[in-house]
Amino acid sequence: MNKKQKTIKASCRYSGITLHTGVRAHLTLKPAPEDSGIIIVRIDLPNHPSVKAIVTNVIDVQRATTIANGEAKVHTVEHVLAALYAFGIDNAIIEMDGPEPPIADGSSAPYVDLIKQVGSKIQKGKKKYFIVKEPLFVESGESRLILLPCENYQISCTVKYGDGILDTQYLSIPIDTETFVQEISKARTFCIYREIEELMIKGLIKGGSLDNAVILKDGIIICKDELRYDDEFVRHKMLDIVGDLSLSGFRIIGEVVAIKPGHPLNVELAKLILHNA
Ligand SMILES: [Zn+2]
Repeated sequence: MNKKQKTIKASCRYSGITLHTGVRAHLTLKPAPEDSGIIIVRIDLPNHPSVKAIVTNVIDVQRATTIANGEAKVHTVEHVLAALYAFGIDNAIIEMDGPEPPIADGSSAPYVDLIKQVGSKIQKGKKKYFIVKEPLFVESGESRLILLPCENYQISCTVKYGDGILDTQYLSIPIDTETFVQEISKARTFCIYREIEELMIKGLIKGGSLDNAVILKDGIIICKDELRYDDEFVRHKMLDIVGDLSLSGFRIIGEVVAIKPGHPLNVELAKLILHNA
């Protein structure tokens, strides 16, 4: 556990449509000094206010994870954060020209490509680890997350949405750069049709389309092309867990056992990690 912190090697930029407002947004990743963490800067606002990607700044967990510090508010941060975590990036500045990053294809894949292109750079400070020594546990309704001692970072996740192909999906894999890129990063956001109907009526998800989500309606899967993995849903839930738990500010050495997880519980566990660190 003597690894050094990392940042990205140079600045890089990604542009695309945002999910909720449906406008074109730009996101720039920049290197940051050691011990700074991941800082998001709203360059579209006067004085460029910033918010650190840490669980104490989470203000909303409905459908996506929202963080804020005063004027600096950003939502749906979990997919870009998951990609940074998977590449071991501890410190970076994320400049955004609006309140949400481009949704891209609803997965982490475009952010993975961006970080791969630019590469990473080792810094002087030591990485901060949370080594699980005793089980930690959070639950709500039918959902639960348990963090157990394990020699590496591992996620074992179970989801259930209905019958047939939507029935129980279970996957357990170690989370390192390679497995994240191959097994997790391309899994897209998915939504239940009746939920998106409500959001559309409210004037939200203006940028939502089959370009960036898989839709479940009456036991049928609606998506562009084919599913990217047979069990794409459980894999996207694991992607969200990686992004949300990175908000603890620690590299995790332990196994997350997740049953029907979601952003509210992921964030609760990230808080518990920070509290127990
Ligand atoms: Zn997600």
